[in-house]
Amino acid sequence: MPRNLADDIAAECFDHGSCGVHTEDSGAQVRLNVYFEAPAGELQTLNAALIKGLSAAGLWPDGARVLRGDVELERDWNEAWKEFYRPVWATESIVVHPPWLPVTVAAGQMAIAIDPAMAFGTGGHESTQLALQAIEYSDCCGRRCLDIGTGSGVLSIALVRLGAQHVTAVDIDPVVVDNAKTNFRANLGAETARTRLFTGGIDCVHGEWFDVIVANIESHLLRPLLPAIAAALRPDGVALFSGLLESEGERFTEWLADAGLSVAKTWSKNNWFSCSSRAHS
Ligand code: SAM
Repeated sequence: MPRNLADDIAAECFDHGSCGVHTEDSGAQVRLNVYFEAPAGELQTLNAALIKGLSAAGLWPDGARVLRGDVELERDWNEAWKEFYRPVWATESIVVHPPWLPVTVAAGQMAIAIDPAMAFGTGGHESTQLALQAIEYSDCCGRRCLDIGTGSGVLSIALVRLGAQHVTAVDIDPVVVDNAKTNFRANLGAETARTRLFTGGIDCVHGEWFDVIVANIESHLLRPLLPAIAAALRPDGVALFSGLLESEGERFTEWLADAGLSVAKTWSKNNWFSCSSRAHS
């Protein structure tokens, strides 16, 4: 199925009682594996109900078909989910991997171990990859950085490893913050001292200024934060935004302008883009 529909279809599958969904890349198309806990004899009924539900939601694209319907006996989901995680080259030089699959990297490359847990940011999503690209491009060395919506902490870890003087990470989700703490310790060791982690939003750092601010957050959640982000940015600082769909590009540029920021550079992949921005001169 087309990649841009996969997230919506996965969400719809969970609404129909799926206990697990796994996406496999195949160029512009993706293959979706959907799991249900049910007696073996119910496979056909489940298939039919799911296709009916997806069609009603306008999420059964022309030409979509069930490739295989198999029955697996008793899957231990506490262990089974692990097989879905593989090391991902999020950029040309940054690989994100689960702790149980270590990766050896060459000089100039970076491996970040992320315990997938409940937080977003395992490296597989375009928005994380594009945020990492923007971070690599921007000069973060010796800078004071802020990571809004840190999730797994993956962007903060990259910032510290790239030489940021200090990184403050915030996220409104307390579960996520615990996961970020674990990932900071595992990846940064003693350098965790160069980080701060808060449960909350940008108001946690009210009155502080930063050289680099990164936020990988959906645009409708990001919009109300833009004035505070602009206010927290040093005059020569750079704000990096990701989690943006290309179809939202024009509108997002207008929102940035309203906050006194203008786009300096963009990166894109599939339907997603990230950008760096600076205060109007
Ligand atoms: N930074 C990680 C990455 O790049 O993969 C995770 C990004 S995830 C798409 C967005 C995160 O932003 C979520 O963990 C969510 O809880 C958090 N979030 C949403 N709104 C927020 C807000 N107003 N302030 C702080 N965090 C927020």
